Amino acid sequence: MEVKPGCTFGRLRVLRKGRSDSKHLWWWCQCSCPKQAVKEVRADSLRCGAIRSCGCLHREMMSRRGNHFTPGTKFGRLTIIKETTAKRKGHRWYLCRCDCGKPATVSNGGLVNGSTKSCGCLYRQTRRTAGWKHGKSPVGRKIAVYSAYYRERSLCRNPNIPFFEYYGGRGIEFRFNNFPEFYQTVGDKPDPDCWLMRLDSDGHFEKGNLHWVKRGKKRKPKKKKATQVSSCQKDIRLA
Ligand SMILES: [Zn+2]
Ligand SMILES: [Zn+2]
Repeated sequence: MEVKPGCTFGRLRVLRKGRSDSKHLWWWCQCSCPKQAVKEVRADSLRCGAIRSCGCLHREMMSRRGNHFTPGTKFGRLTIIKETTAKRKGHRWYLCRCDCGKPATVSNGGLVNGSTKSCGCLYRQTRRTAGWKHGKSPVGRKIAVYSAYYRERSLCRNPNIPFFEYYGGRGIEFRFNNFPEFYQTVGDKPDPDCWLMRLDSDGHFEKGNLHWVKRGKKRKPKKKKATQVSSCQKDIRLA
C-alpha cells in the first residue's frame, strides 16, 4: 500500500513527508489517541504494520493483560512491594522482596510468563543441583572431575567407543561404584592443565592408582619450567 498524506495505518494518520536517506523514507504521522502525538515513522514500518500508533496501543495492550499487580501479590519467591516509577522497554517494573531477603526489581512481563520467580537465588540453587544425583556443583573443577569420571568409566565399560580396546578391552577395570566414591578418592582437579593418570598403566582405575599429573611441558613457557611446581606434582613426589 502506497504511503501518502491522509492515509491511515492503524491509529496513525499520515501528515507529511519527513526525512529520508538513500534507503528509507520517513513520514510525519499523528496518532488518533487522546494524546494526538505526532511522530516520524519509517514508511516500511507503516506498510508492514510494525508501527500502528504513537506507542499507546502497546501500552494499552500491556495494561489490558492484567499486568497491574497490587502490593503483597506473590510470584514464586517474590512478593510485590510497590510499582516503581521507572518504565523501561514498555514494561511496568515492580520492586519485590525475595523470600531469601534480597530486594529485586522485575518487570511485569517476567512475572506473568513465569520466567521470573526469585531474585536469582532460585536459579543459582537449581542450577547447582539440577541433574546431578550426587549433588556436586557442576561448576569449575568439579565438572572436570566428573568428566574424568565419565570418560574413564566409559573407556573401561563401553565397548562401542574408540580406545576401549586399550582399556576395558584388555581387562582394565573401573573400580568405583559411583561419582561420590570417585570424587572422594581423587579430589578436585588441582590445575586446569592437569589430567588424571594411573601410576601403573597396566593397573585398574582404583584407589591408590590414580593421580593428577601435569600435561606435557610444551604448553608452558620454558623459563617457568624450573620454578613451577604444581601441587599435583608435589603429590607425586610425596607418594
Ligand atoms: Zn497514541
Ligand atoms: Zn532470593
